[in-house]
Amino acid sequence: MRILRKLGMRIAVLSDVHANLHALEAVLCELDAGGVDQLWFLGDLVGYGPKPNECAALLQERAAICLAGNHDLVVLGKIPIAAFAGEAAAAARWTQAVLDERARAFLDALQPSASVPGAGLFHGSPRDPVWEYVLTDDAAEAAFALTEEPIVLVGHSHVALEISDGDDLRGGQAPAATELDLGRLRRLLNPGSVGQPRDGDPRASWLEIDNDARRATFRRTDYPVELTQAEMREVGLPEALAARLAFGI
Ligand code: ZN
Repeated sequence: MRILRKLGMRIAVLSDVHANLHALEAVLCELDAGGVDQLWFLGDLVGYGPKPNECAALLQERAAICLAGNHDLVVLGKIPIAAFAGEAAAAARWTQAVLDERARAFLDALQPSASVPGAGLFHGSPRDPVWEYVLTDDAAEAAFALTEEPIVLVGHSHVALEISDGDDLRGGQAPAATELDLGRLRRLLNPGSVGQPRDGDPRASWLEIDNDARRATFRRTDYPVELTQAEMREVGLPEALAARLAFGI
C-alpha cells in the first residue's frame, strides 16, 4: 500500500450504478460530506436503469478509476446482446437507443480490470473480470491465488461481501456498518451495488477505505427509490426491474 499510504487517502469504492441517478447522487452527497478523497468505480454504469447519460457524466467527472462491466460492454456492442436474457436484454436495447456520444466515448475507453499499488480491481473476478461472480469459496480462493495485492475489489454480484485469506477463508456478506481492520490479512471486498442492491437492503451500497486508519467500512445510503421507479416506468423499462428496487432483490 505504498502509494496509497503516502497519499493518506480515504477512498470510496462504488460498483453497479446501473443508471440509477438518484442512488448515485445520494451516495456522492454522502461521500462528499464525509471527506472522501477519491472514488473508484468497479463497472456496470449502465443497464437496467433510466439515466445512463447522466450517470456516465457524473462518474466521468468524479471517478479516479472507472471499470467497464458486462452491461456496459453489451450496451457498447462489444458483447452480443444475446448474452442477456429477457429484462436485461430489453434494458440493454433501450440503453443503446438513448446513449449519447459523450457517454459512449467514455464507456468505450474503460477496461473490466485495473490495478493500483495495494489493490486489484475487477468487475467480476480476477479469473474472469467480465462475467464471474465471486460468491463461492472456489471463486474466492481463485481470486486470492491469481492476485498478490493485499486488497482485491470486485463488483458484479450486487451483494456486499468481505472475505479474508488467513489460514482459511473467512467472512461472508457485509451488512450496513460492517467495519474491518485491514492490518494483517488479505481481503476480498465487494462494495455491493449502488443502483440495484440484491442483498435484501434496498439502500445504495458502497464501501469506504480509510487508508490511514487501515480500516474499511460498508456503507448504505437512503435514496428516493420511488423517483427512480417513476423514471423507469415513464420510459417503458421492464416493470420487474423497477419493482425489485423497493426490496433490494
Ligand atoms: Zn451489475
